[in-house]
Amino acid sequence: MKAPVLFEQGKPLVVEEVELAEPCEGEVLVRMVASGVCHSCLHAADGSWQGVLLPMVLGDEGAGVVEAVGPGVSTLRAGDHVILSWSPTCGRCHYCVTGRPVLCQRKPPRNRMYDGTTRMSLRGQPVYHYGTVASFASYSVVPECCAIPIRPDVPLDKAALIGCSVTTGTCAVLNTARVPAGASMAVWGAGGIGLNAIQGGTIVGATPLIAVDVHDSKLEYARRFGTTHRINATRDDPVAAVRDITGRGADYTFVAVGDVRAMQQAWNSLAPGGTCVVIGVPATGAVLTIDANGIAGSERRLVGSAYGSARTYVDFPRLVDLYLAGKLKLDELITHRYAIDEVNEAFRALAAGEVARGIIVF
Ligand SMILES: [Zn+2]
Ligand SMILES: [Zn+2]
Repeated sequence: MKAPVLFEQGKPLVVEEVELAEPCEGEVLVRMVASGVCHSCLHAADGSWQGVLLPMVLGDEGAGVVEAVGPGVSTLRAGDHVILSWSPTCGRCHYCVTGRPVLCQRKPPRNRMYDGTTRMSLRGQPVYHYGTVASFASYSVVPECCAIPIRPDVPLDKAALIGCSVTTGTCAVLNTARVPAGASMAVWGAGGIGLNAIQGGTIVGATPLIAVDVHDSKLEYARRFGTTHRINATRDDPVAAVRDITGRGADYTFVAVGDVRAMQQAWNSLAPGGTCVVIGVPATGAVLTIDANGIAGSERRLVGSAYGSARTYVDFPRLVDLYLAGKLKLDELITHRYAIDEVNEAFRALAAGEVARGIIVF
């Protein structure tokens, strides 16, 4: 099968004919219909994240159709429509049982299947699976728990976005922070994740709902997704602007970029009793410095959110239902479509801030 392969960080991906083995016990083979192009994959490709196993097929945001199932698979059969999850869940450990499966303690070794091997290979060498699901490949073998069945009447190119950016953004608001109706909220970064945090704010009725970015083009997307105010951080001081708009600071701030300065601004923009939710992952080794005096007295909270604290079997179908009910925008997120051999252009446009979300369509 065809897949773009990352051989070396900082170098373009190369489309290769990659060998794909049959699914083993507890695994399924998925024919990919579409894959989003995520910033995390760009970080892995451009070298801002270290420790990446190579060669590798990237992609953590896919949807497709189950083609075959391995022995022992009980929740899926050929023909099922699925959204891929990059967060494997065992269903039995402390965190899975207590409702926080994102923190599952029995994950497979990084970029491999549960048995420690890969299903992809090239000229006899193993090829690693980014985010377990390697959704840039036209076919992928994934653990059963990474293929979440959904209703068949939702278009799979739209549904693909639920596999990473939509869940990471909206569920940070709905699950991690549980923002109440009418709370004030500000989001740093109006890209694929940030626009979805904004969507989460729209769904719960956050007011005012403020976007902060450094690109006017992205702030225009933020306007279409329901923000009441937009701040360009290259022209205005976002901390002063958020305080000006909200009066006492924001009840909730979300940082949807991997940038330490944005985290500091989001923390400094909080109202007393407010919560700052960090979604973005900064470069390896980055350190956040905050004023320790501002924590206890004003009861402010700094919270991390991975994958929107998703319970994939519940949240993926819920987000599909919200989309089909007209309460979650997916069509509007997709601003660019690419063929598999245009993936390097997709990364260039993403890095340049030109897209809301680009997708590869197979
Ligand atoms: Zn992603
Ligand atoms: Zn678990």
